[in-house]
Amino acid sequence: MYPAGSDSVSMKDIICLTDSDSDLEKAASLLKSGNVVALPTETVYGLAADATNRDAVAAVFAAKGRPADNPLIIHVTTLEMMEQYAEDIPRSAYRLAEKFWPGPLTMILPKKSIVPEIVTGGLDTVAVRMPSHPVMRKVIDLVGKPLAAPSANLSGSPSPTTLKHVKDDMNGRIAAVVDGGECTVGVESTVICFDGYDSVRILRPGFITADDLRKVVDEVIIDENILSDVVPEVKEVRSPGMKYKHYSPAARVVLVCADIEGFKKYVASRKEAGMCCLIYDKDAQNFPFNYMTYGSDSEEQAKQIFSRLREADEKGVKTLYVRAPKKDGVGLAVYNRLIRAAGYEVVES
Ligand code: AMP
Ligand code: MG
Repeated sequence: MYPAGSDSVSMKDIICLTDSDSDLEKAASLLKSGNVVALPTETVYGLAADATNRDAVAAVFAAKGRPADNPLIIHVTTLEMMEQYAEDIPRSAYRLAEKFWPGPLTMILPKKSIVPEIVTGGLDTVAVRMPSHPVMRKVIDLVGKPLAAPSANLSGSPSPTTLKHVKDDMNGRIAAVVDGGECTVGVESTVICFDGYDSVRILRPGFITADDLRKVVDEVIIDENILSDVVPEVKEVRSPGMKYKHYSPAARVVLVCADIEGFKKYVASRKEAGMCCLIYDKDAQNFPFNYMTYGSDSEEQAKQIFSRLREADEKGVKTLYVRAPKKDGVGLAVYNRLIRAAGYEVVES
């Protein structure tokens, strides 16, 4: 499989670029000639292509193994850029942009015909985000076009928050990756659509919470699929990504909703070879089983969750019992990712 574009480069070994000006120029010129380049954002690493180049976007879907009906987010650096690609933009979208952009909020808006269908999976809407990461912003400006970028992982596996994660998944599949260090947020953007003039619906929870959004719009609805522990394939979904397997390591993941004593009791009742627990930092003292930790508050858990899921596989863990995070604020985003990583295997103990 080779990237699209007349100046495609060999993908035998992924080119690792730094965030120096000259390397970002290289990244931009690869993108301009139709190649796929992984770039750091504040949420997770993205697999970027020129959003106006159909073949380049097709190469993104191919590199990830992503189903064609799961649309991509386009990343912009200015409101003018958004207006070139989206139309009928509600006034509340501008208020949200003013408050949360640049940052981890994605808005679903009616698309202009200039946006290739392949980007939106045939939908008549387009997902738009203005990222804050300086590397992503600089490269978008150098290319002069929005970049379509899903997370830079193989479809279905945990999202990448470090250069190593991207290399593990994408070596041999894309042209280059730019090293931007560890992503600060660690979970993907909050995705919203507009249900009414001043009413938004959260389709995917992220770092921008329902309470944050309520400061700007009258009504915030949390889509029922976000917390549902029923596999949504059979139900109607508002965002195609909701119906696909997500974030899963090779290890079996079981999400256990319990205080630490309930959690220990539950784990004690399952004695399996190759099991490991993922608990809060503060639970670790005298913890009687094999374990890893993922921080103690929701922000830390968001930042660490995907690294820990990948580490479980590196350690050859067979079953990972995760002590569930809180289900509110940023915790809702972590919980939502973990339900899916667990393949909806959620235990109340
Ligand atoms: P990712 O690319 O991994 O960050 O995922 C992007 C998410 O945004 C997926 O869940 C998509 O289904 C969702 N998305 C992108 N475009 C649209 C759209 N036009 N309407 C609804 N959801 C969208
Ligand atoms: Mg993704």
